[in-house]
Amino acid sequence: MKPRRVLIVGGGSAGWMAAAYLDAVLNRDGRRLADVSLIESPDVPRIGVGEATIPSIGHVLSSIGIDEIEFLKRVDGTYKQAIQYISWLDGRGESYYHAFGRFRHNPVDTSTLEWLMSDRSIPFSATISAQPAICDLCLAPKMFGRWELGTRLPYAYHMNALKFADYLCEIATSRGVQHYLDNVVNVEMADGQRIAAVRTRDGRRIEADIFVDCTGFAALLIEKKLGVEWVDCSRWLLADRALAIQVPYEHNYPGYVRPNTQATAVSAGWIWEIPLQNRRAWGYVHASSFVSEDAAEKELRAFVGPIGDPFPARFVPFKVGYRAKSWVGNCVAIGLAAGFIEPLESTGIYLSELAAVMLAEHFPYGDDMEPLAWRFNRIVANRFHEILDFINMHYCLTRRTDTEFWREVQRPERINDRLQAKLDFWRIKPPSQADFEDQFFPGQPSTPLPSGGLPGDHRSPVDTGGVFTLSSYEAILYGMDFLRTECDQWFGADRPPTRVIKGIQDKVNIAPQKLPPHDVYLKRVAGMPDYPPT
Ligand code: FAD
Repeated sequence: MKPRRVLIVGGGSAGWMAAAYLDAVLNRDGRRLADVSLIESPDVPRIGVGEATIPSIGHVLSSIGIDEIEFLKRVDGTYKQAIQYISWLDGRGESYYHAFGRFRHNPVDTSTLEWLMSDRSIPFSATISAQPAICDLCLAPKMFGRWELGTRLPYAYHMNALKFADYLCEIATSRGVQHYLDNVVNVEMADGQRIAAVRTRDGRRIEADIFVDCTGFAALLIEKKLGVEWVDCSRWLLADRALAIQVPYEHNYPGYVRPNTQATAVSAGWIWEIPLQNRRAWGYVHASSFVSEDAAEKELRAFVGPIGDPFPARFVPFKVGYRAKSWVGNCVAIGLAAGFIEPLESTGIYLSELAAVMLAEHFPYGDDMEPLAWRFNRIVANRFHEILDFINMHYCLTRRTDTEFWREVQRPERINDRLQAKLDFWRIKPPSQADFEDQFFPGQPSTPLPSGGLPGDHRSPVDTGGVFTLSSYEAILYGMDFLRTECDQWFGADRPPTRVIKGIQDKVNIAPQKLPPHDVYLKRVAGMPDYPPT
């Protein structure tokens, strides 16, 4: 078979991940199914944010053949075991964890029911996983020697997004991916919706069989040329701008590296804190209609404290929504060109990973792309909706009334219909595994997905549970004190103290003897420099 020509336009993390992944999966063991090329502009900057990941990234890294330690060294990487949510419920510094791991006892896991029937004196997340305590102690999820702590601790990474794209570029080009540094200035159509070639500022004309639009929010091919609609989701997620600041450890090293992201709710959104091997980064994700640029900067700087004073803060505007179809004709949009749901659960890079994996799985060996596009679009649309519901849920369960923003996010029109149907059902029956097999709930509206002219199943987008499982939903719901009143009615207001099962307590007790501090591990294994605490 003659290899199919794939041209990726855009060299951010989405473009380079697609290039390296497609090349690794389609061209291995003597096969050559795709000739992959990537063109990126030498002067349109990458977005440069996107530093927290979820564990699914492990699949992409191992498929490309990236060694974990080398990866950590190249991207200033650290481990991420959880997100700690602070001040989301009442705005008074209270916190809960969404950890990646969950201890389950077989055959039937009754730990959630036990917690619901208890007095909630211990946070839910601490009763199902040792990782919240491990995060509080700033320990690594790894040991120096042989692993001796039972089930391994799941984790993802924090990383420098620009270095990640550069590292992938180096790997992909060393394996034969062709790289052009040039600006696409024109897109030439073959017929109907098929692209024939792109033309560049330096006078190139590059043909391909498949074009991948990774041009970020510019969406050069999918929107500017093909006119595919952007489905706006800002009525459910109000944030549309971030303000980012970074403080290098040379200037201030706190003496530890947290093995988790922190997300602290503030007046008109929330602030991330992400630790790397050489700096801490903060970003205030906010709704521009609720806070001015000046007020946002003042608030972020007050949060970071005087250590941030010498450093500039950068505004990053964004839009929340998704492409009605991300694969049209022979053009597939991946990354921000395909959509973006705000970064609260670190799903941006994940969605690029998913699209790259799905494109490899639905790779067009022939010219009949329409059924492949239909299936790809359905999977991607479902996953966007799943993430949209999940992020929407973090906001709408708040009890905060201290600012207009927090009063607004609780209003019924700010909760999307699918999520509302789930919450209504779960107020009658706590969420359980069955809800992630059949995701239709009483009262859920039926809004079919676009058919693209093809026959078949166009049911409403569903929560596929593909990325956020029952455990993730429980972590947020019960972190936000969901079902407290209902439990009072079902089980009586006077309930026994919460207990932590032995398996978890044992792990928490032994963790400090077995797991090194996160920074010690990174210094010894992953090349982190030695900074004196300041
Ligand atoms: P970009 O990085 O914008 O790259 C676009 C590319 O297209 C560039 O190479 C540019 O040069 C090129 N280009 C543009 N026009 C042309 C042209 N005419 N010709 C040739 N090339 C062109 N995701 C996470 O997973 N975790 C996070 O914590 C996270 N935080 C985020 C915070 C914010 C505030 C935002 C906005 C996003 C965040 N994301 C996060 C998402 C993440 O940043 C993106 O998913 C990721 O960076 C991928 O971006 P991209 O490659 O699609 O676009």
